[in-house]
Amino acid sequence: MEEHQQQVTGESLSALRGAPKVQLPPAAEEGTALYVHLPFCATKCHYCDFFSVPDEGQDIDGMIAAILREAEVRAPARPRTLFLGGGTPSLLSAPQLTALLDGLQQITGWRESAGEVTAECNPESLDVDKARCLLDLGVPRISIGFQSLDDKTLELFGRVHTAADSFHAYESARDAGIEHINVDLIYAIPGQTAETWRADLARILDLRPDHLSAYNLTFEEDTRFKRWLDRGRLEAAEEEVELEMFHATRELASGRGLEAYEISNHARPGEQCSHNVNYWRNGEYVGIGPGAVSKVEHTRSGNPRAISPYLRRIQGHGHATDWSEEPDEYARLAECWWLGLRLREGVDPSAAARTAAASQGARDAAAALATRLEGDGLLEPSGDRVRLSDRGLPLADAVAREFLQRLSADSR
Ligand code: SF4
Repeated sequence: MEEHQQQVTGESLSALRGAPKVQLPPAAEEGTALYVHLPFCATKCHYCDFFSVPDEGQDIDGMIAAILREAEVRAPARPRTLFLGGGTPSLLSAPQLTALLDGLQQITGWRESAGEVTAECNPESLDVDKARCLLDLGVPRISIGFQSLDDKTLELFGRVHTAADSFHAYESARDAGIEHINVDLIYAIPGQTAETWRADLARILDLRPDHLSAYNLTFEEDTRFKRWLDRGRLEAAEEEVELEMFHATRELASGRGLEAYEISNHARPGEQCSHNVNYWRNGEYVGIGPGAVSKVEHTRSGNPRAISPYLRRIQGHGHATDWSEEPDEYARLAECWWLGLRLREGVDPSAAARTAAASQGARDAAAALATRLEGDGLLEPSGDRVRLSDRGLPLADAVAREFLQRLSADSR
């Protein structure tokens, strides 16, 4: 699934800085955001590098019990937001969802505290009963993985649903009374033209979703798509076509009242995903379940990206922390900048420095880099903040690399 941002924010530093040492994370304060990773999917999509495994009759009840055990040890009391991601949470049956959400309620009291609760759903496992069940259990916001409106593309992706299934799932959710719906889409797909993307997007916008996540297709290491790309079986979209699609998305979505509040995320006023905005503001969060990552104080930590080691650790210790690291102040500040720049509101340099507990030296290094990128036309001032310019928006990843690499070099 595309909407959940755990992996993006949680693993970037580790990837850049090599294998971290293991150290138990600090306890989270009351109100910290809570993410729960449910790793099972109908099949493994060929482009996906999230931690997920095909559902082949594994013990899902056992996984729920393990997640609840971990929650007893690590989940914050009264979380501000709760996000069920994966994987495919909608794959769980009604009794399994009930066991999970009621169990989490007993441990954290989320039903009284969470201002936003989201579950990621896939069309093959979302019907009106499932949607009603989620709503009755206290989940008023869902994210539906449409990904494409072309059945041949869905087949190429390795997905098990058709476009008609996606529309049906969407209508079922609305019929059940779900008022906050995100639609997940992927663009820059091999063979896709800007015209077909515009036409598909218009059909989606006709549904009047409250939120739209539209990500360009990326070819991640260790995915079937990357192997196919390397062997010439797939061809990545031309850069200009991808850029045209990026701009078309913003233009069409904004024309229908969904503003781009983040590079790939668009929402009606008041419908932004607070859980993800917290990631982009480099706030604290606790992730539980296999492969989930957490950030508490300045410590990042994560669970094993595998089912058996996760279950073994929970059985043995009640928690499954597999790695942890405390990035230095330069890395922390770099992270505040590159994540914050993804948001249209941009970065408040003083707030970023406070969040990162950065020294004057680190602040000066970040300010100098921001000034240079402003000179290059990639950043622009916006009140007390700094944000990506129109030219910088599609180059957000390159700007992120600048912050991560330059500030890391400055720290040495
Ligand atoms: S549904 Fe596909 S893209 Fe989403 S987590 Fe599962 S395998 Fe990955």
